[in-house]
Amino acid sequence: MLQSFIKNTLSKSIPLRFFTHALPRVGLDIAEPLIFEQGLEGCIGVDIEDRDPNVKHRLGDLQRTSKIGLPNLNEVQIVSSCTMKYNPRINEVICRIPSLLNSHPFLPTDAVQGSLGLVHRLAEDLLKLTGMNSICMSPAAGAHGELCAMQTMAQAHTKQGNTHKKYVLIPDAAHGTNPATCTMAGFKVRVVKSTKNGKIDFEDFKKKCKDDVAGAMITNPNTCGLFENDICEIADLLHEKGAYLFMDGANMNALMGRVFVSELGVDAMHMNLHKTFSTPHGSSGPGSGPVVFSKKLTKYAPIPFISKEGDEFKTTEEDKTGNSFGRMKAYYGQIGVHARTLAYMLAMGNGLAAVSGDAVLNANYLKHKLEKTISVGYPKNKYCMHEVLFCDRFLKHTTISTLDFAKAMIDAGFHPPTIYFPLVVHGAMLMEPTESESKESLDDYCKTMINIATLAVSGKHDEEFHNTPMAAPIRRTDETRAAKFPILTYQEK
Ligand SMILES: *Cc1c(COP(=O)(O)O)cnc(C)c1O
Repeated sequence: MLQSFIKNTLSKSIPLRFFTHALPRVGLDIAEPLIFEQGLEGCIGVDIEDRDPNVKHRLGDLQRTSKIGLPNLNEVQIVSSCTMKYNPRINEVICRIPSLLNSHPFLPTDAVQGSLGLVHRLAEDLLKLTGMNSICMSPAAGAHGELCAMQTMAQAHTKQGNTHKKYVLIPDAAHGTNPATCTMAGFKVRVVKSTKNGKIDFEDFKKKCKDDVAGAMITNPNTCGLFENDICEIADLLHEKGAYLFMDGANMNALMGRVFVSELGVDAMHMNLHKTFSTPHGSSGPGSGPVVFSKKLTKYAPIPFISKEGDEFKTTEEDKTGNSFGRMKAYYGQIGVHARTLAYMLAMGNGLAAVSGDAVLNANYLKHKLEKTISVGYPKNKYCMHEVLFCDRFLKHTTISTLDFAKAMIDAGFHPPTIYFPLVVHGAMLMEPTESESKESLDDYCKTMINIATLAVSGKHDEEFHNTPMAAPIRRTDETRAAKFPILTYQEK
């Protein structure tokens, strides 16, 4: 049925013109070749020890002599995930160690020394990586980490009697979770403008950084894919006013292993372990958003803590000083994600800096290859960080929108990037290739993007673009309805 659908629908429609490669990847995965059809002879993604020739086969003469016909796939083809990160196989091996898999937070601490040791070791390594003073491991996602940081900030102000500090400065390009978190933590948002270069307008920031400011939430690199050069001056200004700097660390993939955020003057930062440090995730998890703190905020941070005394790991469940605001959730955090993160960090070692280097290089490669065809939002004549922001200026003379363009990408077999975000450029398309894409796959992607863009600006296919995707089983979704009324159980047709 699928075959005839593909033949009947596609042979008459525009998607065929998008194809640039031998394998007809159409409508995302619907025409994906089977794993037996992918790969190259000799490619291997697992390590199996050679069999001891002296050991007799269990079935004696019934030994197989012909090839068993396993798929020839490399490691990345097998384990790559929606994070598009490199997810080392060792991650999954570690997570399935029975003592870790079956450990339970209700077990007495002397029965779970290994699990506590793992979380403690990861906590220490994340502190080393960021140069910060303390860490809270329990937040269950990025947004939850933001909330943890902002509640800590709120607690600091409460304890210091700063009742007049009600506002938090947030740039207009911020991720939606930032203003939401700020509001949930009891603060009010004061929006800071971006300059025409896509960065925080420092003059505007200065004007708005008054005595009533409790802190700022700054994403760095920001959502336009740019490093905020004024970050140190911003931190100084906030500190002068008795306010704190929260850095949204969701974009650590661009900085990992290269910057001690402590030196930028940051007081709190969350990390999205599930984004930056592997762990396949989708829709609603699994996630983990530990928060690192400066010395100043440490005593207000939430409980519990794991500490090491001699050879023993202990947990602190209560804050006797009364400074901590409480807890973010039950127990110590997402142990499965913690295990994968530690395994990833140990597997990469000094390679963490190479990860951020390659992620930035790949984004700039896309920018360089595409900027003559697809208009760049920011930065105009400079390098970007790990994401490159395009906009819809090149579609100005057509009736084709960013949405139409993104849907056409589905017909060509590519998952569309984030669109219409950030809001600071018109019809945004934010592309993040990550470090794990090969030059071949980036070239393939660029070729297809250029093909689609050339068809789009030709003025001859507007109607067809409005009807994309044609090859996907689901076409134009009512996204609001899908988000508000999800069908969460399998329904047989
Ligand atoms: C993903 C992201 C978040 C939120 O993280 P979740 O784990 O999805 O809650 C916050 N800020 C930025 C910049 C992000 O990219």
